[in-house]
Amino acid sequence: MKASQFFVSTLKEAPADAEVVSHKLMMRAGMIKRLGAGIYNYMPMGLRVIRKVEGIIREEMNRAGAVELLMPVVQPAELWQETGRFDKMGPELLRVKDRHGRDFIIQPTSEEVITDIARLELRSYKQLPKNFYHIQTKFRDERRPRFGIMRGREFTMKDAYSFDRDVESAGRSYENMFQAYCKIFDRLGLEYRAVAADTGAIGGDRSHEFQVIAETGEDAIVYCPTSDYAANIELAEALPLLAQRGAAGAALVKTPTPGKSTCEDVAALLGLSLSQTVKSLVLATDELNEHGEIIKTQVWLLLVRGDHELNEVKAGKVEGLKGGFRFATVGEIDAHFGCKPGYLGPIGLKQPVKIVADRTVAQMSDFVCGANEADYHYTGANWGRDLPEPDLVADIRNVVAGDPSPDGKGVLAIQRGIEVGHVFYLGTKYSAAMNATFLDETGKPKPFEMGCYGIGVTRILGAAIEQNHDERGIIWPDAIAPFTVVICPIGMDRSEEVKAAATKLYDELLALGIDVLLDDRGERPGAMFADWELIGAPHRVVLSDRGLKEGQVEYQGRRDAEASKLALGDVVAHLK
Ligand code: ATP
Ligand code: MG
Ligand code: MG
Ligand code: MG
Repeated sequence: MKASQFFVSTLKEAPADAEVVSHKLMMRAGMIKRLGAGIYNYMPMGLRVIRKVEGIIREEMNRAGAVELLMPVVQPAELWQETGRFDKMGPELLRVKDRHGRDFIIQPTSEEVITDIARLELRSYKQLPKNFYHIQTKFRDERRPRFGIMRGREFTMKDAYSFDRDVESAGRSYENMFQAYCKIFDRLGLEYRAVAADTGAIGGDRSHEFQVIAETGEDAIVYCPTSDYAANIELAEALPLLAQRGAAGAALVKTPTPGKSTCEDVAALLGLSLSQTVKSLVLATDELNEHGEIIKTQVWLLLVRGDHELNEVKAGKVEGLKGGFRFATVGEIDAHFGCKPGYLGPIGLKQPVKIVADRTVAQMSDFVCGANEADYHYTGANWGRDLPEPDLVADIRNVVAGDPSPDGKGVLAIQRGIEVGHVFYLGTKYSAAMNATFLDETGKPKPFEMGCYGIGVTRILGAAIEQNHDERGIIWPDAIAPFTVVICPIGMDRSEEVKAAATKLYDELLALGIDVLLDDRGERPGAMFADWELIGAPHRVVLSDRGLKEGQVEYQGRRDAEASKLALGDVVAHLK
């Protein structure tokens, strides 16, 4: 590619709304252009990176035996009604109507459509296992789109879905995808960690997130450096149960926007990151008659993670909250919300809470809670105070660095991470709901055992930059750089010699299949170098009259402190 024919558009300053370095640098490097909140144009420079990321993903998915197809962005609501998600999902799901008034959704993910394909196409156990994937535009009406394309509303995801005949085989499909993901993130050149993750509203017991390690990550992960233990802190905190802060020291704080507080507001108020507010309490109130008998039980879900689909439940039920509370039992939660408690967030009571002797419910307690009054929240409460179950008390703590690892093989460390991939064992949740079955050896219909596997293609760009940058700009890993090598000729318009040498080198590298760009824009050296350092080209070769007289060029790797001299004849071998 020649720069004069390509489109290079860099900025000195980042826009004011860019909070994190990757967003700033992507904007400055002309990789993306904002069209609306969470909606971006992928500009030519950025699209080259996206295509390279997709290429690696596609290769490894195919190698792992997955089959590519393409499902529509706009999907009929009927399928989503079959699973109940059309109604159950919160405002993150974008619903649209066509000219006939029929409901559609813009896909945030594609379980329903792929399950529909499977029930029509996969009829016999002989066709299993099968794994379908696509790389497609997604839309999620995120409550708070930010960080550029890391949390966009429109973004590109690779999502794969596996279909198996039984649990055992589904486990192998899961493992197969897990391994493929490791290869993908290895090839992308990213430092990442696979961590056990919450199975949330989907349920099931196997889920791992692939987290790119970065200070600015929205997630926190705990891991043991001397063993394999690694988990999203959401999960790690769910296991050790309750916090041990003193109730006496609890402070009651009022939210700044009464009646309109979001999870983010509350999190900010309490000095917590959003990932720490993910869990909630699910509480029940019992209405008693004059004999003290329960005549009615209400289950309250209090403060749910901001972007979670159960958000609406919060809006509906929390209003008018009054009376005494107890923790709801799993059975009650299931009956009211049809979900497991994994995703429910921290909340509020004014009175001391009795923990019921139900381990799973007790696990949901958190170190932050709201108050039994709208817009008030406690901080520093001790939920473990009057615990009736001494054997549970032993497990009660927040996870902090230095804690013993649950596997007993060392102590825990904490890092921040960006979720770039997620593998999930789904069981028969979707196949059962949609009556998607195959015939087993005995000719009996059985629901598919399913798994789903997502990778945030566009988010990877942001994550890679968060991890690889310096004060001059982006440092792309070779595998996904928009251009691997940039040739910067100095005075190409004046010097025939420079022009000839640069063009020859360019042709040679092209012939070798190297992704090379010749910067023939005629920019001054300083501006030219600054552009490519900002854009993050991993390798730069500078040709000048002076150097060529000695048969030399200057080579500088993007991470090198300074340029080194290289014989012109050695450049190709050096870059191969
Ligand atoms: P998050 O916790 O960050 O909201 P998620 O758990 O909702 O992500 P999944 O449903 O697991 O996301 O989707 C699979 C992948 O899609 C995620 O691992 C992430 O890399 C990517 N992804 C999810 N939401 C977004 C978004 N708003 N913008 C860009 N990528 C996203
Ligand atoms: Mg999300
Ligand atoms: Mg997540
Ligand atoms: Mg996820």
